[in-house]
Amino acid sequence: MSNIVAIVGRPNVGKSTLFNRLIESRKAIVDGVSGVTRDRNYGKSVWNGKEFSVIDTGGYVVNSEDVFEEEIRKQVHLAIDEADVILFTVDVEGGITDLDQEVAAILRRVKKPVFLAVNKVDNNQRILDAPEFYGLGLGELYCISAMNGSGTGDLLDALVSSF
Ligand code: GDP
Ligand code: MG
Repeated sequence: MSNIVAIVGRPNVGKSTLFNRLIESRKAIVDGVSGVTRDRNYGKSVWNGKEFSVIDTGGYVVNSEDVFEEEIRKQVHLAIDEADVILFTVDVEGGITDLDQEVAAILRRVKKPVFLAVNKVDNNQRILDAPEFYGLGLGELYCISAMNGSGTGDLLDALVSSF
């Protein structure tokens, strides 16, 4: 398996919603790869003629940052090991949190391509709140709405061009 994209980020930013959108054309073909752990969903997709796999991390991490911070850190390191490309997802509604900062600090040292998706940018008004995420030091922002699909085409163009 190659061209593996791992979606990482703190709980509730919309990772699973984004995962479902990225794989919607292929309807969540769950991969039969050995060693697949139960707290991660695997799917396949194709964009611009390039096939890739997507990992949705943190499936069983409930929405409490304090208790599960360590678990999220573990998921990020697993993703870094396993994936070719990291898709770090943050939430424009919540702004930058301590946990976002922590994940960003790990990802800034990673040699693999990292894409920063600012999710929940459902309308033009919300684009105005996105630039604060440049503060994470990860370069370009991709403003998306996993819910309504806006911006995900541009994100996918960039993602698959990194393979
Ligand atoms: P995860 O914990 O990171 O996997 O996040 P989920 O995908 O479970 O989404 C958490 C919540 O955010 C759910 O209520 C989603 O409906 C909501 N959500 C996800 N994407 C968007 C989006 O683009 N816009 C808005 N407004 N809500 C979203
Ligand atoms: Mg989830």
